[in-house]
Amino acid sequence: MPANWIRWLAAGCGLAAMLGAAGCQTATEPFTGRKQYLMSMSAQEECKLGLDAWRETLKATPVSTNAQKNAVVQRVGKAIQAVASGPGTSEYQWEFKVLASQEANAFCLPGGKVAVYEGLFQYVKNDAELAAVIGHEVGHAVARHGVERMSEQQAAGYAGAALDAVLQSKKVASRDTVMQAFGLGAQYGVLLPFSRTQEYAADQIGLMYMAKAGYKPEAALDFWQRFAAKNAGQKSAFSDWLSTHPLDDKRIANMKTLMTKATVEYEMTPAKRGYGTAWK
Ligand SMILES: [Zn+2]
Repeated sequence: MPANWIRWLAAGCGLAAMLGAAGCQTATEPFTGRKQYLMSMSAQEECKLGLDAWRETLKATPVSTNAQKNAVVQRVGKAIQAVASGPGTSEYQWEFKVLASQEANAFCLPGGKVAVYEGLFQYVKNDAELAAVIGHEVGHAVARHGVERMSEQQAAGYAGAALDAVLQSKKVASRDTVMQAFGLGAQYGVLLPFSRTQEYAADQIGLMYMAKAGYKPEAALDFWQRFAAKNAGQKSAFSDWLSTHPLDDKRIANMKTLMTKATVEYEMTPAKRGYGTAWK
């Protein structure tokens, strides 16, 4: 689907421009260099949507009062924040929260709103593995994957009947569209997976972030491999996160090919944390 999406999107952008309708812009994805076609949306507008979705989520899911889990997410989250800060995140006002839900889930919204669900903790063994999760989620946000997904949906509106038919089952109200574009929206009954291209990118960015933050990149493989294996046996706890972040052997294989580069990054990092604190 991703390749078709890009083609339709390019057509959509061209047609939209001819009609004088919504504008498009191209962007270059950080770390991968991939060319992205995005609807015109400023960083401020994007962060505003992220904030709205954040508030929406916090209304639906209470914040955890577990001091230990909150401390871990603050510690690891701020380490990732320190290396993710730059031109792409100049509008970000970072926040890190643990949500009181037994779902194994996590996300980062544009604007730097990061949540890890309590349910994820039983599958993460140390700080470095959590850094892999947070790095991956921050990677989606910094690479503007939510806007890219909204752009795809917008472009689809100009792409004719064939695409309308493809999308028919996904037509939702605009707020829901935004929530889904950000990888949320379970409460509305529809989850939209990130594309494999976006997953590869988030994996790559996440690996580089965790390595730059001083966490051993091998921990990412430990986590994702264990997560994939556990999922095979117990679908329910993971269904939302894995629905939005499809995980397969190819993703794992792709991460392995990035390990040399991530290790070089790790070796160059002066303040190494290794696997960080191991949890019991
Ligand atoms: Zn993902």
